Amino acid sequence: MHGTSILEETDRLMTVCNSCRYCEGLCAVFPAMEMRRAFSDGDLNYLANLCHGCGACYPDCQFSPPHEFNVNVPKTLAIARNESYAAYAWPPALSGLFARNGVVISVIAAASVAAFIFGFAAVNDRAVLYGVNTGPGAFYKLMPHNALVALFGAAFLYAILALVMSVLAFWRDIGEPVGGRTDAGSIWQAIRDAGELRYLDGGGVGCFNEDDQPTDRRKIYHHLTFYGFLLCFAATCVATLYHYLLAREAPYPWWDLPVVLGTIGGIGLLIGPIGLLAAKFRRDPELSDQSSMGMDSAFILMLFLTSLTGLALLLLRDTAAMGLLLAIHIGVVFALFVTLPYGKFVHGIYRFVALVRYARERQMMAGGTE
Ligand code: SF4
Ligand code: SF4
Repeated sequence: MHGTSILEETDRLMTVCNSCRYCEGLCAVFPAMEMRRAFSDGDLNYLANLCHGCGACYPDCQFSPPHEFNVNVPKTLAIARNESYAAYAWPPALSGLFARNGVVISVIAAASVAAFIFGFAAVNDRAVLYGVNTGPGAFYKLMPHNALVALFGAAFLYAILALVMSVLAFWRDIGEPVGGRTDAGSIWQAIRDAGELRYLDGGGVGCFNEDDQPTDRRKIYHHLTFYGFLLCFAATCVATLYHYLLAREAPYPWWDLPVVLGTIGGIGLLIGPIGLLAAKFRRDPELSDQSSMGMDSAFILMLFLTSLTGLALLLLRDTAAMGLLLAIHIGVVFALFVTLPYGKFVHGIYRFVALVRYARERQMMAGGTE
């Protein structure tokens, strides 16, 4: 007996697949499944998060609907995966945020932007808010650097704490002892697999989307989004080092490293999310969990808005629009930070952990040890 009906269904499908094994070359899920004869809740959540949702095992399956076995692995694992996010959420009292996630994130984002606009208007006189402020330190005339660091530092630390606690619960449940040593080789293999989205290629032919013609479209848009996000994060880190180590205050010139990294990353973070969103709405509904559309779309839109408002601020920072744009941009980024542990962002963390587990399992099998 499993904890939920979707885990019961996942167990049924994995039992059928374990007898069939036709799809074993498509991705990591089937080889990991074959290492087991029975499935605990943790095993099923592990397999669900190992699945990248490429869809290839649906058109390939001789038991997919209308066959009476009704085998739909991509959709079933997608639902189980989405339910696992709430199951491991920390603190558990906030697991409900994964339900109606699109609405929750929209409300938090709107409230955050409104709070920053109101705060800027309340604290600053109109000459500063609507005036033209340029050169080093211009942003901090609207909000002191220390206040910015305290607010975002607290939000970031909370997000890290919530994510670490959630991942520890997942790690414990999928069979890895918390605190147990995971070898560097497994972590490096997982970094490579995640970095190239190795298992989002349908066994080499590409992702299945709206028809039976697989493409690499989703993989390319995902790369643009992921690496765009990393570059923007790197831009923030470099700017922080500039501030504290070199005593150089933002905003920086166009040619300077934080701006170059942020601009390239921001462009990726505009194109990638638009492509992912378009692919999501065009995709065959039989391949995905339709109930998670709100959560998926909300996260993609938050990434898009982070980039759009950041680039708008960069373009118009020497004009009277800078004050309002700064409030909107940091309002969006703050909302993105505080909702990270309770939205689609977590899929990347759980999938990486599942890839580490998979690399470790393969290594143990090769070495003949448990
Ligand atoms: S998805 Fe279908 S074809 Fe593939 S292993 Fe499972 S039962 Fe076999
Ligand atoms: S949808 Fe793709 S990644 Fe998921 S189990 Fe099927 S083949 Fe593997």
